[in-house]
Amino acid sequence: MQLELYIHIPFCVRKCGYCDFLSAPAPSQVQERYIRALLQEIKGRGPKTEDCEVVSVFFGGGTPSAVRAEWIAELMEEIRRSYTLSPEAEVTVECNPGTLDRHKLSCYRQAGVNRLSIGLQSADDGELARLGRIHTYGQFLESFRLAREAGFTNLNVDLMSALPGQSLTSYEETLRKVLALGPEHISAYSLIVEEGTPFASLAEQGRLDLPSEEEERRMYERTRELLGEKGYRRYEISNYALPGRECVHNRGYWIRRAYLGFGIGAASLWKEVRFRNTSDLETYIARPLECREEIQVLSTEEQMEEFLFLGLRLTEGIADGDFRRKFHKSLSEVYGGVIRRNIRDGLLSWEGERLRLTDRGVDVSNYVMAQFLF
Ligand code: SF4
Repeated sequence: MQLELYIHIPFCVRKCGYCDFLSAPAPSQVQERYIRALLQEIKGRGPKTEDCEVVSVFFGGGTPSAVRAEWIAELMEEIRRSYTLSPEAEVTVECNPGTLDRHKLSCYRQAGVNRLSIGLQSADDGELARLGRIHTYGQFLESFRLAREAGFTNLNVDLMSALPGQSLTSYEETLRKVLALGPEHISAYSLIVEEGTPFASLAEQGRLDLPSEEEERRMYERTRELLGEKGYRRYEISNYALPGRECVHNRGYWIRRAYLGFGIGAASLWKEVRFRNTSDLETYIARPLECREEIQVLSTEEQMEEFLFLGLRLTEGIADGDFRRKFHKSLSEVYGGVIRRNIRDGLLSWEGERLRLTDRGVDVSNYVMAQFLF
């Protein structure tokens, strides 16, 4: 069985104004205690996965690149000791510009990290400052150059649209600048103002100067057009890659590959059970192997729902054969009416045995997917 591992590093240099992730600045002693707890959890969960091959490891956060690279190397060593890591496994570290240097990059390479995901968000320094990012575009350029120099041949750049004060022109400028660098993968998400963030308060007071819906829609269209012209294929609603460079780890979530998440707030899907670790740092550090909360044993209906609404995010869609193998029924037997209605409305289409969202369907994907809930 194939397995993915996710390691949550919840530390950041400073909190961004829009961020509701489980992340915060912390002194280095706290970080070190957390890394020791992570090592225990990684080791402790290993024996149950004897028949599994780990095909991807993802260090996410937070800002994994903000902690000592030697700790990432130690975590990788423990992963190699406690799990069967495929020689071809994709090993990604999320990084922020301004937190990378030659030493860290070389340490990552020696530890077997072969992919970096760099959070740029925008190439406009004013937009970056409004987001509360710690870096400038110049620092991103330097990080990107250092990563290439260190031998990384698989780089993702994260971008965001619909930012405060952002115009279509400035967004296109960001896209063009990034495309000129030729990263292998680009993730392009729209800003969502999340409850409880400083951005939500600003929005309530009418002080967040967001682009109009029409401008946001144009940004979204221009992403697909400009990236498409340069050979990037959209393989998921918000993710684009050069041929063969789709992210193994993210794709795994959408095809419901088993994964184990380590660290605070980290979710897992294991033998059709979803669970999540405590979000409390001290509870986790004290008992990393006994801190599971929110355990959900998925019913067959829930598994089917997930198969549909996760799988349809991929532009390749879902295969009737895969559905039959798992549930011993065809997609049409279970969802015939919903499928027919959405095909009639031009939102879904069959391609051979694959059911996928049309371009129009992608634009209203939440509406389409909601109809597959029992
Ligand atoms: S760097 Fe990322 S995780 Fe950290 S505060 Fe900013 S958006 Fe959140």
